Amino acid sequence: MTIRVDHRTIDATRIEGASRSLRAVAGDLLDAKLRMARLLAQIDDARHYQLEGCASIGEYAARFGISRVEAVGLCDLGRALRDHADLEKALRSGKTDSVRASTVARVLANPALVKPGDEWVRHACADALPALKRRVKARIDEFAQQATGVVELSLHVREETKKDFLRARDLASRKEKQALTHGQAFHRIVHFYLDKNDPLRAKPRKRRVPDTATRPDSRYVPAEVVRAVLERSGGQCEFPGCENRIFTELGHIVPHACGSGREADDFFHFCSIHHKLYDARLIRFVGGTVEAPIFWVKGVGTVCADTLGAVKTTRSPSGPPGANGGGGRTAPRKIDPNGDPPPAVAERGAFRRRGDGRYPLFESAFVHC
Ligand SMILES: [Zn+2]
Repeated sequence: MTIRVDHRTIDATRIEGASRSLRAVAGDLLDAKLRMARLLAQIDDARHYQLEGCASIGEYAARFGISRVEAVGLCDLGRALRDHADLEKALRSGKTDSVRASTVARVLANPALVKPGDEWVRHACADALPALKRRVKARIDEFAQQATGVVELSLHVREETKKDFLRARDLASRKEKQALTHGQAFHRIVHFYLDKNDPLRAKPRKRRVPDTATRPDSRYVPAEVVRAVLERSGGQCEFPGCENRIFTELGHIVPHACGSGREADDFFHFCSIHHKLYDARLIRFVGGTVEAPIFWVKGVGTVCADTLGAVKTTRSPSGPPGANGGGGRTAPRKIDPNGDPPPAVAERGAFRRRGDGRYPLFESAFVHC
């Protein structure tokens, strides 16, 4: 007798003998695995494998034809079974399998990794293996990094980069005398790079340079000023709405040649494009503060601000009409965010080309700024 299922013909004669035998063998195999798991855990706890000349339980198990990866998993399972009878019950009832049980056993074998309310046995029964592995890895890294929450980061790198990363992890683990997780190693590498290269991480030091106003001929910007500007901007372009954090630089609010100082509130932290637009007077600083600046944008002819109405500044724009700032350290200029652009910057004369002789000092300043 045959039946057709999904375009295939199946012999419907039941092969009860084979099926019964398979159930019996599977049961024996599970019994053997559970017994092996308990024995491996016992041997690992006692480090008995060292008496046999082996450096690890994996190496020891490999002598008997058990793969190292499986042996380590079974070892965790053997430990987990001591306190979690429900895991064995789930295995014997077929709700989970030995691979998924060994996966959650990585957590269950270490009581420090288990939080109140955790349902690892349920996850072993319900989750697909890739999701279960991610969940287990996240918990292990949460504990290793003492973080309340960790996020997954997936990268595609060149083969040699992966090799280099693992080498860096080995070196860092050796230095700290413990095997670091990949997450811990990544954390160390990122911190190491930033500690070396990020001005935001430079420790504040005693400033050796006097107030830059006393040295008007110099263009030197003290390291402490750079650090203060970056701290203010968070490393991001300060033009409202711009999210550039990579190609950024300091831009004079008032042109250097117009007598600007070189203190933190003399600079904006701009991306290279907004810096160019500012120098070309296509955008202007017309009010607010350096922390919450208000800009006038030529292209759309409107005031652009993060926090409109916030006017409390020690350095606000002034000086000749059309200038991006002026003498500095003058009274703040009130901007009506709902009204027309400020007359001084809105008038056509504000966009006179360089060299027209009307504002020679200011005009020449843009050559350098
Ligand atoms: Zn920008």
